[in-house]
Amino acid sequence: MAELHRNLIDGVWVDGEGVANINPSDTNDVIGHYAGATGDQAADAIRAARAAFPAWSRSGLMERHAILRKTADEIFARKDELGRLLAREEGKTLPEGIGETVRAGQVFEFFAGEALRLAGETVPSVRPGVGVEITREAVGVVGIITPWNFPIAIPAWKIAPALCYGNTVVFKPAELVPGCAWAIVDILHRAGLPKGVLNLVMGKGSVVGQAMLDSPDVDAITFTGSVATGTRVAAACAKHMRKVQLEMGGKNPLVVLDDADLATAVDCAVNGAFFSTGQRCTASSRLVVTQGIHDRFVEAATEKLRALVVDNALKEGTQIGPVVDENQLAQDEKYIAIGRDEGAKLAFGGERLNRETPGFYLQPALFTEASNTMRISREEIFGPVASVIRVKDYEEALSVANDTPFGLSAGICTTSLKHATHFKRNAEAGMVMVNLPTAGVDFHVPFGGRKGSSYGPREQGRYAAEFYTTVKTAYTLA
Ligand code: ADP
Repeated sequence: MAELHRNLIDGVWVDGEGVANINPSDTNDVIGHYAGATGDQAADAIRAARAAFPAWSRSGLMERHAILRKTADEIFARKDELGRLLAREEGKTLPEGIGETVRAGQVFEFFAGEALRLAGETVPSVRPGVGVEITREAVGVVGIITPWNFPIAIPAWKIAPALCYGNTVVFKPAELVPGCAWAIVDILHRAGLPKGVLNLVMGKGSVVGQAMLDSPDVDAITFTGSVATGTRVAAACAKHMRKVQLEMGGKNPLVVLDDADLATAVDCAVNGAFFSTGQRCTASSRLVVTQGIHDRFVEAATEKLRALVVDNALKEGTQIGPVVDENQLAQDEKYIAIGRDEGAKLAFGGERLNRETPGFYLQPALFTEASNTMRISREEIFGPVASVIRVKDYEEALSVANDTPFGLSAGICTTSLKHATHFKRNAEAGMVMVNLPTAGVDFHVPFGGRKGSSYGPREQGRYAAEFYTTVKTAYTLA
């Protein structure tokens, strides 16, 4: 058997029962074996993080900077190899995998810089002779629970700020993608992190994740994943009165108005809905199209979909890789059947595909004649499935766009400044895109949503400090 990739607890690589990591583009390809941690090991990891906190939270800024900087450099230097690992274990295309790896490096680079820019405020008191200092301190032990769809970027955008601001970490990656998680922890460990500052516990959510939720010794939890698990995380955090940040689903609308540039709108729709196999929480799953452009839009989008190459993620020329696993594929197919039963028209795709290597291939599916009340318009599918909802005009488009339990990203394609401006102001979403796909964001600005999509402070950029630090106000009589 290939070498076992172990968990990192208190600076030591610890054995566990190996679980095979399977390539969704080729189920005969075993990427490696990764140790599943036990509940007791999760407890050990939390204890180690607790013990490491006092020293790390007071560590020198140059030490934090150097470790984050070194990590960024190694990720950049190994981008092709790590991007390939990512594509192999998650099913994103190789260019997407390399792109995401570079993004992870940029996130570490950004927070390496932030470590040198930590600052507070000094303000006069309302009482003469008294001074007031406002500072930010580390929160403590941060539990990081991540999903499978961005195996390196999401761990990076949680681990980098956690360490930058002086927290210690217990990190549990998703079961399906331990490879990138292990690689990033290995890099940080070798970059010189003191023992216990970053602990890796791979394995089952119900065991390792649940142990983190149940422990009174975790001070904050940042989670990205499904609404069902997110709700559980929130409830567990309320019980312990601990800080929590949740990023969950989306049912993101892309509005296409009559005055849109057709090519731009089709590019935004196809990219936003189907690239990365539609497995992005920012994917445009509702294409809300006004009646004057509707038929031209559907025709052009269908034509573009027909030309897309769905194949092995590692093959040159592949534009859409496989679905991540059999469970997700079954969920996608279930929703395609539901859409048909509800009366939407399957205008293109939706069938399983056979390729040279055995994998979870699905032809991207486009529904038309969908209404916003159908389940396919309300529930997150998380696959290459999108619906076109025909509307009369901009006002109806905005109302449909906002009529959803989610609020992560919302897009509009239009050449009207008036409508673009109105939409930016009135879309009930954390992120708004004008003539751009709903997915695809920068790393130095806030990421997050409203309503059922997110809970707690924003992630990324300087706004990350809201979650990873706690504010102290100190008064001194001079
Ligand atoms: P998905 O697998 O669809 O991304 P999940 O919410 O199931 O969404 O998983 C997201 C992360 O949450 C994964 O790392 C998973 O292992 C973890 N998880 C699942 N169940 C629990 C749980 N009961 N407690 C803590 N974490 C969990």
